[in-house]
Amino acid sequence: VAALPAYEPARPGAVVRLDANESPYGDDGLNRYPAPDAVELHAALADYYGVATESVLATRGSDDAIDALGRAVLRPGRDSILVTPPTFAMYAQFARLQGAGVVEVPLGSSVADAWQPGVRIVYICSPNNPTGTVMPLADLDRLCGVLRGRALVVVDEAYQEFSSYASALSLLAAHDNLVVLRTLSKAFGLAGIRCGALVAAPGLVQGVRRVLPPYLLPTPVVSIATAALTPAAIATMRARVAELRARRDAFAAAVAALPGVIEVVNGEANSVLLRLDDAAAAAARLADAGIRVRAFDGQLADFLRFTIGTEQEMARAQAALR
Ligand code: PMP
Repeated sequence: VAALPAYEPARPGAVVRLDANESPYGDDGLNRYPAPDAVELHAALADYYGVATESVLATRGSDDAIDALGRAVLRPGRDSILVTPPTFAMYAQFARLQGAGVVEVPLGSSVADAWQPGVRIVYICSPNNPTGTVMPLADLDRLCGVLRGRALVVVDEAYQEFSSYASALSLLAAHDNLVVLRTLSKAFGLAGIRCGALVAAPGLVQGVRRVLPPYLLPTPVVSIATAALTPAAIATMRARVAELRARRDAFAAAVAALPGVIEVVNGEANSVLLRLDDAAAAAARLADAGIRVRAFDGQLADFLRFTIGTEQEMARAQAALR
């Protein structure tokens, strides 16, 4: 990747633009390619995350960042990632697509002890999907130190806004092998625009940018994302997060008493995981009531994950469960 010449995209600014084979006709500037570096959006993201602009790369959701990181870092047939199941499935999926290996270590056991040669990326999902569990900052700090020069520690904070624990962003200054992934898909309510962010040391950001296409983010996405990061929009987001957290805890408490609910796993994300005496039957009855929840196989076959929706939606889910 480092040896590839960088593609030089067309830059806006000239009065007569005959350089990019665009159409001269169009509304709202959409006949033009987006500005290649989305300066305003990157500045807004950097401000929100409290880091330097050079440390931020806006991506097409955090899925895109996971994919790009793997393609930038993992050598097919040689390198591996380390994941801690049960966790988000796309880390392993993108690694396998890249021809890399996947080392699995059960969630909660020592990741530092489990590192082995060839593991170049360690994925820590915190708050974890689907358990909502968090890795404390002191543990992350230690892990980055132990793995310095050996592996990147990628902390996926897709659900960070819902968490009462501090973000790993504060550790970035101390560790150049730390990468933090964030997204506008969850707390900001913008899953439809596909906008996430990779936050890391500037050199790493540049390396990952190289495996992504020029004109990465569509113009309307850049405007919507930038507008979501104004102080007023952030305040609205925070109020909704507080509401969802309260609703999550109320739902978790209410369903704990229902017959057939064996365990309630409530954590720091916007979902609750239930262990049921018959998860398949419960999912079928919920589906009959028009309610779709997340079922799993393997290790979590007895569990269903409920995303926290509106008050009404949670009341319906609770009634159907009962
Ligand atoms: N990370 C985690 C832990 C997730 O749960 C998800 C979405 N389910 C993603 C990343 C991807 O989110 P997006 O691409 O929408 O940012």
